Amino acid sequence: MKKRVVVLGATGSIGESTMRVARALPEQIKIVGLSGRNNTTRLLELAREFPSAQLCAGNEASAAALGAELPDHTILHGDSGLEQLATLPEADIVLVAIVGTAGLKPALQALESDKDLAVASKEILVMAGEQVMAAAARMGGRVLPVDSEHNAILQCLDGKDPATIKRLILTCSGGPFRNATAADLAGVTPEQALRHPTWSMGRKISVDSATLFNKGLEMIEAKWLFGIPMEKIDVVIHPQSIVHSMVEFVDGSIIAQMSSTDMALPIQYALTYPERYAGPCAPLDLASVGRLDFEEPRTDLFPALDLARRAGTAGGTLPAVLNAANEAAVDAFLARRLSFPGIWESVARAMETVPFVEHPTLEQLIEADRAARSAVGDRL
Ligand code: NAD
Ligand code: MG
Repeated sequence: MKKRVVVLGATGSIGESTMRVARALPEQIKIVGLSGRNNTTRLLELAREFPSAQLCAGNEASAAALGAELPDHTILHGDSGLEQLATLPEADIVLVAIVGTAGLKPALQALESDKDLAVASKEILVMAGEQVMAAAARMGGRVLPVDSEHNAILQCLDGKDPATIKRLILTCSGGPFRNATAADLAGVTPEQALRHPTWSMGRKISVDSATLFNKGLEMIEAKWLFGIPMEKIDVVIHPQSIVHSMVEFVDGSIIAQMSSTDMALPIQYALTYPERYAGPCAPLDLASVGRLDFEEPRTDLFPALDLARRAGTAGGTLPAVLNAANEAAVDAFLARRLSFPGIWESVARAMETVPFVEHPTLEQLIEADRAARSAVGDRL
């Protein structure tokens, strides 16, 4: 059966890979909704390519500009537009690929209106994983991971009894500074941090991959997606990014998922789950890869992993604080108002200073997110 798909954040890096999947699988996927915030030129091109999609622009002015080019369309905009797309009656699944936590509300709205959710925006699971998973359980919806590591784990688990899992092993490329010294890290520029060795991605996640906060966020994301405690979630550095993650079972067997370094595959598997089809992802030639290396992460040099483990273990508002402080600090780093090590220093400080709530409501999580952003901003 054809999946009718809404893509929130269609003009970004994940959005573009999703379009490649949709182009390659016209029998399996129909795009029924597309949103983009700033890049109206790209949204217009996508609207012409997928003429049956409802559109949502970032604001009223861009919606009007798009409307002038597309007289047959009603162009939505802003938060209410995202809500309309997320709850579109003709959609089966909503892919949230908006950077940061701006996709949280539409994600919850999609689940509440009986859709499945494909999650690229790991930040929403870090901030409010309990609420998202509870909404899915209440409505009987699926939360399917697009993040390559979690998608790999989904493929490795393949219906196996969760009681047989010994640990999840997330692989991590190590980012562009895998072999750096503390002195090197002090002088890192945005240009250097944005140069990822194996993946081409949006700016925020590229910086997160350089600090290893990306992997920290992914540990917390894994805890919610698979219902696994933090102490059973490990990270191993794997510079080639070919093994996308692994599951170790109680009998000592480790099952790994391998494929080319291309987000099209996890996106496709999330959208067509549990079916497999020949898609746009290039086949993997192991002989040309040659070797696969694994090493311990350098937690002394990259405090992000320990901070995330602490936040994920404590739970409550702490993951939301870690995530929001990181988002604010990454923005400040990209604007050259904060040094590279200033990112984890800001996160650590916000985790110390923002008041902790053990069993927060959604409103308290939103308040913790706000407080963490201002805790970072106040120091700059
Ligand atoms: P990106 O910056 O390339 O694209 C972000 C998209 O979100 C754009 O379409 C933009 O218009 C939209 N957007 C941004 N802010 C918005 C807002 N406030 N309201 C509405 N729309 C907004 O980002 P990306 O690299 O595609 O990443 C998107 C998400 O997917 C992130 O959460 C990231 O962590 C996750 N992810 C990305 C990759 C990757 O390979 N790029 C891999 C795994 C997970
Ligand atoms: Mg990932």
